[in-house]
Amino acid sequence: MEQNLSAVKERIVAAAGRAHRNPDATKIVAVTKAIAPERVEEALAAGLTVFGENKLQEARAKIPLVSNRAHWHMIGHLQTNKARDAVALFELIHSVDSVKLAGELDKCAGRTGKTQPILLEVNVSGEASKSGLKPEDLAAAIEQINALPRIEIRGLMTMAPFAEDAEKARPHFRRLRELRDEMENRFGMRLPELSMGMSHDFEAAVEEGATMVRIGTAIFGERRTHDAEQ
Ligand SMILES: *Cc1c(COP(=O)(O)O)cnc(C)c1O
Repeated sequence: MEQNLSAVKERIVAAAGRAHRNPDATKIVAVTKAIAPERVEEALAAGLTVFGENKLQEARAKIPLVSNRAHWHMIGHLQTNKARDAVALFELIHSVDSVKLAGELDKCAGRTGKTQPILLEVNVSGEASKSGLKPEDLAAAIEQINALPRIEIRGLMTMAPFAEDAEKARPHFRRLRELRDEMENRFGMRLPELSMGMSHDFEAAVEEGATMVRIGTAIFGERRTHDAEQ
């Protein structure tokens, strides 16, 4: 795993170099779905600190078993009725895909006196199997979510369609960055985070401006269960 991690880091540095970006501007979110708590501890020992889970139930069982030095992000589709647990468990929720879900998170955060940082998931590719807001609905969603007192929108997230050739993902990553720039101008707000890129396409994502790459397989090896789409 340490070797895998070094290789991933080197590839991030190289991709950042090609785009004249600071390599430290892209954080690794190590995706630990289907990975046992002991291996998350190993990952912590290897220097990773931010971990992503895509299922609430699994996260609820795993998080208490891992040292509290770990920072946890929710990266998978979240049902409204799981908002309370999500607010309790996660520092950042990457996968907010509706105003309704944001409203529920706001209520739950209010009850515990927390402000919940989120990213808005955008379905840039328009693939029917992907969740996420349609790009044309993003501005209206931001307007409504900005009115929620306990939610802080930190940026945007997307999943590119799987393709053997990572270059096919590039236009989707670029589109997410452009959408972010449009929204920043339109609302006069900062949306600093772009969560995009997974094991097979993270280099293109880094070149296009990712501030977080969500990487499972390239660090931990092939998973026995759950595919990338969950
Ligand atoms: C599983 C998953 C990833 C990581 O996938 P890998 O191909 O193993 O790197 C990233 N993002 C989301 C939302 C996922 O569900």
